[in-house]
Amino acid sequence: MVLALKALEIGKDDEVITTPFTFFATAGSIHRVGAKPVFVDIKADTFNIDPEKIEAAITEKTKAIMPVHLFGQPAEMDKIMEIARKHGLKVIEDNAQGIGARFEGKVAGTIGDIGTLSFFPSKNLGAMGDGGMCLTNNDELAAKLRQLRVHGENPKYFHKWVGLNSRLDTLQAAVLLQKLPHLENWSEARRKNAEYYYEKMKNIPAIQLPVIHKKAKTIYNQFTLIVENRDGLLSYLKENEIGCAIYYPKPLHIQECFSYLNYKEGDLPVAERLAKKVISIPIFSELTTEQQDYVISKIEEFYK
Ligand SMILES: *Cc1c(COP(=O)(O)O)cnc(C)c1O
Repeated sequence: MVLALKALEIGKDDEVITTPFTFFATAGSIHRVGAKPVFVDIKADTFNIDPEKIEAAITEKTKAIMPVHLFGQPAEMDKIMEIARKHGLKVIEDNAQGIGARFEGKVAGTIGDIGTLSFFPSKNLGAMGDGGMCLTNNDELAAKLRQLRVHGENPKYFHKWVGLNSRLDTLQAAVLLQKLPHLENWSEARRKNAEYYYEKMKNIPAIQLPVIHKKAKTIYNQFTLIVENRDGLLSYLKENEIGCAIYYPKPLHIQECFSYLNYKEGDLPVAERLAKKVISIPIFSELTTEQQDYVISKIEEFYK
């Protein structure tokens, strides 16, 4: 993500619009290149950045929009690209969670100027350690990214830019190449598991199942519910040895390290409210129907 921002020459005094409801790296990378993250609230149903609120955040310093395809569901790229074109902004898609997802049939991460992938073990295509990748349809940007990832050198020992050491480790690449052919099947299995949850849990009034935008095809990196008494449910599921987690308990605009940005609680109410109500339950491809029934029965039991 740092490489993507550097390739687009985003740095000091620039602003990048993004979502507060995401993993830290999204805004961390913007800060890292010396730019300022500007947070725009999310939609209450899809958890993704609300396109209707983007234009109000644009200033003469805005250089780019960085939408996140959260939990595997693409943000509304049609509206985001339209706003970017209108205002001459770059678009970097943080597609760490959405490899293979689609919006209007287009592959997520290939719609904006640059898309970024993460191969952290918890992603749908996970390595055995860290790794990532930039995607672009622009040959010039591709060449620049390749150069920036080896300290900006080309030819060897001659540096046009200050890049960084950001090669994909060879051992991780070997692991990823073995796993890549299975990716589509694994994501399909996640979608099947999701369908089962939708079918079996539609009648539990205390929970809202994930809402998928009609133009989006998700890969369900997470299956995230909006629930009543979230912390109670979390403890109950953990007591019953069901793996579950909160993505994310604290939106980025009110993180301590960003206090210099001067946001305060209440500024982005949708993200703040959902941070207190979300819980993600198991969705991984190898999950069995029996295991899903167990998860569902424990959720039902809790709300009785
Ligand atoms: C995982 C993730 C990243 C990147 O994380 P790394 O650990 O640096 O690979 C970025 N953005 C989001 C939304 C993520 O989930």
